[in-house]
Amino acid sequence: MTAPEVHDWQMFIDGAARPATSGATYISTDPYTGADWARVPDGDASDVDAAVTAAQAALDGRWGAMQGTERARLLRRLAELIARDAERLADLESRDNGKLLREMAGQLKALPEWYYFFAGHADKLGGEVIPTGKSNYLCYTQHEPVGVVGAIVPWNSPLLLLAWKAAPALAVGCTLVVKPSDYTPVSTLAFAELVREAGFPPGVFNVVTGQGPAVGQALSSHPGIGKIAFTGSTQVGRQVAIAAARNLNGALLELGGKSAQIVFADADLALAANGVIAGIFAATGQTCIAGSRILVQADVHDELVDRVVERARRIKMGDPRDPATEMGPVSNAAQFDRILSYIASARDDGATVAHGGRAAPDLGGLFVEPTVLTGTRPGMRVVDEEIFGPVAAFMPFTDEAEAVKLANDSDFGLAGAVWTQNVQKAHRVAAKIKAGSVWINAYRTVAPGAPFGGYKSSGLGRENGLATMLEYTETKTVWVELTGVPRDPFTLG
Ligand code: NAD
Repeated sequence: MTAPEVHDWQMFIDGAARPATSGATYISTDPYTGADWARVPDGDASDVDAAVTAAQAALDGRWGAMQGTERARLLRRLAELIARDAERLADLESRDNGKLLREMAGQLKALPEWYYFFAGHADKLGGEVIPTGKSNYLCYTQHEPVGVVGAIVPWNSPLLLLAWKAAPALAVGCTLVVKPSDYTPVSTLAFAELVREAGFPPGVFNVVTGQGPAVGQALSSHPGIGKIAFTGSTQVGRQVAIAAARNLNGALLELGGKSAQIVFADADLALAANGVIAGIFAATGQTCIAGSRILVQADVHDELVDRVVERARRIKMGDPRDPATEMGPVSNAAQFDRILSYIASARDDGATVAHGGRAAPDLGGLFVEPTVLTGTRPGMRVVDEEIFGPVAAFMPFTDEAEAVKLANDSDFGLAGAVWTQNVQKAHRVAAKIKAGSVWINAYRTVAPGAPFGGYKSSGLGRENGLATMLEYTETKTVWVELTGVPRDPFTLG
């Protein structure tokens, strides 16, 4: 059998494809086949420096002088190009991260909406006239771009999570240096070509690839950066925030989660079971909003477990590019080992494996069975820590107060759900959950206009929604004296 072809990719700096300054490269593997499939530049701090310099120069050039209407036009053109190439980009993402082609195709189909949404607001971000109580002054504000945005992105949804940063940042006039995950550099490099084709000036959008933490560290600590926008683990997010703070730079952080799905006895259990499956087994559980803690009212606990196990048994695992597949492999070997070690810890802690709990080596690739754990409780690692895999921890509760207490008994606060047919209870409980997104009788849906982010260790700031544009601006206050009369120079005016 001949080895599959390995494609070569280049970084993207100042409008041009180029190798790493050192000439080094590394290999990205396909998690399903295990085969090497892409050779990518292994950049370092000098490449970050070159990209930041280009991004700063773009702010001082044609891009910096553009009006919002012109930026909007470029963003709309980019959206059209993404729509044109959605299938190809989805295929690249699936090859890189092993997630289902049908999941990545769905994301890529929706992706243009982010660029259209923020294009629609690129020319509408006005300031305010401020009433100051001083009749001799006109006072107004304006929002100016923070400058160069350093965007650091994880492997699970590379282009979607990049869009959450790039679309608003470009809309307000920032430039970007992007660091994709080591595991999934390819779709971002292909995307950079579309940015060029759309007509964005050189230096507005740059991509530096590299293995290990070096590029991310160099980017988050670079003094030429105006803001860091990071999506990834809580542990690395903390390091990024500390690095940015040393330069007194802001950091927008989207981090990990351990989200609770609360299922009351009066819920439609068929829908709730489907929502539990969507929350923890879709994307092989590799999503920050995975609903990994399933809190079920005791009266219906066993029935819900049975329903979820019955559906989990029928989940079709296999080739991520087969449209019939429902769960693909996990993305990389470290993640595979980590998930299995969490399942082992649950067994050691006395939890029951109601379904799954093993690797599935016969399928090839890094497959872990959809796993349902019962008899779990706070204090167990599978309940307290993010696993980022297809592992659901079920816990019973007796009443509403206990459900809320269990849901909030977490260092994380990214998302959650309430399943009930009682409308008062639904809103009451949603209000008490300390998390950035709560779904009622639903799970795992996002939109460009809907703010997204975490409480507690799940993050800082919000992506999506109009307000996220302000994350990428400095507010300037301008005072205009209207009388020309000299004032007492020794008092505050
Ligand atoms: P990760 O934290 O390991 O890596 C994220 C990115 O940071 C990668 O590009 C990585 O190369 C880079 N990086 C690594 N070390 C760095 C350092 N010291 N300084 C700067 N950058 C560094 O996360 P991951 O494994 O790629 O992704 C999974 C994690 O991402 C999970 O915890 C998940 O919950 C989280 N996530 C959060 C969201 C959200 O919106 N809240 C969305 C998706 C994923």
